[in-house]
Amino acid sequence: MSKHIVINKSNGERSCGCFKRCGGCQLDKPYAEQLEWKQAKAERMLSRFCKVRPIISMEIPYNYRNKVQTVYKVNGSRRIISGIYQSSGHSMTATDDCFLEDENAQAIVKTLKELMVSFKILPYNPDSGQGLLKHTLIRVARSTGELMLVLVTASPIFPAKKNFVRAITQKHPCITTIVQNINKGNVPLTLGDRNIIMYGNGYITDELCGCRFKVSPHSFYQVNPIQTEKLYSEAIKAAGIKEGDRVIDAYCGTGTIGIIAAKNGADVAGVELNPAAVKDAVSNAKLNGLHNITFYNEDAGDFMIKLAGAGESCDTVFLDPPRAGTTEAFISSLSQLKPEKIVYVSCKLETLTRDLKLFTAAGYKAKFIQPVDMFPHTNHVETVVLLSREFAGTK
Ligand code: SAH
Repeated sequence: MSKHIVINKSNGERSCGCFKRCGGCQLDKPYAEQLEWKQAKAERMLSRFCKVRPIISMEIPYNYRNKVQTVYKVNGSRRIISGIYQSSGHSMTATDDCFLEDENAQAIVKTLKELMVSFKILPYNPDSGQGLLKHTLIRVARSTGELMLVLVTASPIFPAKKNFVRAITQKHPCITTIVQNINKGNVPLTLGDRNIIMYGNGYITDELCGCRFKVSPHSFYQVNPIQTEKLYSEAIKAAGIKEGDRVIDAYCGTGTIGIIAAKNGADVAGVELNPAAVKDAVSNAKLNGLHNITFYNEDAGDFMIKLAGAGESCDTVFLDPPRAGTTEAFISSLSQLKPEKIVYVSCKLETLTRDLKLFTAAGYKAKFIQPVDMFPHTNHVETVVLLSREFAGTK
């Protein structure tokens, strides 16, 4: 397969020949210019609330993705090729050197293509319904070095399974677990419900900010662990957590931020809509030996309204909503819950701006705004905002 990455010898910057076709990256410019672009956008949208701090960058803005999803197909010369699935174009961009992906994962994908030939495993063809392998998902725990390979197949029958596992693990001893996921559906890059563990214990464990997190094939987990650690540290520092603080972690996913706060001594309630994420959050709390955190499986806005209705109060609220941001119901609950501090972790500037206006109207003032570059080469801007209750008299 042709190589797409060109490295500029004078400054180490890389550019990718797939840029236009793939769509995974949106910023095709030197990293320093990407940071300037993101900073300017954050300032344009947020400086009316408070001064925007300089964006926290990555030292080496490449190969940061700890989650690598790869599709396979047989090309015109009957060779197995691999690449990235474009959600927009519904087709595959052939590449095996994407500079965002983990390098061990890329090496495993190369070996998988060779093994597919020797084991006579064909990529699944959605048009004919023939073939076995729909895609692979590789997840890496950067801090522990554990690595999970998920083989997503159209049927549960995997020929010469034991020999296949032996061959791939011999070549890549970094693989700590292999899971076969059966997906009979036809939505690309999704997982089916059934997992068959082929090797190891079926999950990996990573560490962030001194806490351990279990990552299974289906778990949500941030894809850039280096920057995630910086993001969470900023959020926890902003909250200034003290022993015994009553904290809500809203939109908590697998419990990461709340667990770190609980480890710092807070009494935490985490709320999350996705039941699978809540299950992971509960086992993550156990993994960290924490008894001062409880998780609730419901809509974050409904939960806050209920708490407010029950006359509860709290010291700090973390919220890390999806791109759509939070809701008016969530924000209106604050007039009763009266947290002194709100730490908003946002992945979209437009909804953050909209919500900050509502928080301001509810009596909160932005004290600091810290952008973090979680996804170099893309146009996404992640931001931590600390809001503090303005009027002592409103307590
Ligand atoms: N804080 C976590 C997860 C952030 S992603 C982390 O850093 O890993 C946003 C989370 O919000 C997702 O897990 C999603 O399932 C959840 N979510 C989406 N809508 C929600 C709602 N209405 N109520 C509660 N959680 C919701």
